[in-house]
Amino acid sequence: MKSFAGRKAVVTGASRGIGKAVAMTLAAHGARVIGTYGKDSKAAEACERQCRTDGLAVELIRCDVADYKAVGEFFQHLEERFETIDILVNNAGIRRDALAALMDHAQWQEVLDTNLTGTFNMAKHAIILMLKQKYGRIINITSPAAHLGIQGQANYAASKAGQIGLARTLAKEVARKKITVNCVSPGFIKTDFINDLTPEQLSEYKKTVPMRRFGTVEEVADAVLFLASEQASYITGTTLEITGGL
Ligand code: NDP
Repeated sequence: MKSFAGRKAVVTGASRGIGKAVAMTLAAHGARVIGTYGKDSKAAEACERQCRTDGLAVELIRCDVADYKAVGEFFQHLEERFETIDILVNNAGIRRDALAALMDHAQWQEVLDTNLTGTFNMAKHAIILMLKQKYGRIINITSPAAHLGIQGQANYAASKAGQIGLARTLAKEVARKKITVNCVSPGFIKTDFINDLTPEQLSEYKKTVPMRRFGTVEEVADAVLFLASEQASYITGTTLEITGGL
């Protein structure tokens, strides 16, 4: 794969889990990465420290993707420093599970605001910068919940399906400007995101995976790396599944 030297990449939710692996992988291939996080400054500082030790150009900035004004200010800062960006990975995501009949409005709204509106907020501003240089790669991290439907995840599944519809639409809007927009859909990946599941639940979920194992953050990061590369120039509006066959 060609080097990412000179490429500027933004990865949301880069302080932990999949986002951190994506940020580190892009940086290991030469990109300069600006990651965002939501609340956990300690995790962000630890991630930056680890990247510094490993010689990786990853910087973390606090920016709530659900906050349209904050995202606007974040991109203004990026434009002043870098003029433009080449890659956006919309990875920040949350779960607030409950059966729909028991789900309160706040649980619904918070998930939609972060996972779907956050993706729109970031993509809109990124596209404005990418249009100027007629090049860009946008990758949304969605989930199999988008098409499978999972009990207790009405909010999450709707937000993840929305990310796919958004990507397909944006892909058409910006195709002629050499900007691609795709999704990566990871299956079960062992991160903090599924820390609340009991060992029994984890074992049951594992049995549903044809490969009989969970995926790693690195396996997801490698898929993102490919879609973010110059080589993926004729792939747009699609979803790449990293699920062990789920
Ligand atoms: P983690 O919970 O490990 O990490 C989530 C990251 O998102 C953190 O950096 C967190 O920062 C950040 N974040 C959360 N809310 C916001 C916000 N409002 N603004 C900015 N950053 C925010 O999650 P994973 O790494 O497991 O998941 C990453 C993505 O992958 C999510 O979109 C998830 O839906 C998707 N996914 C995960 C799967 C899995 O099995 N792990 C399976 C399928 C999809 P902070 O802590 O500071 O808020």
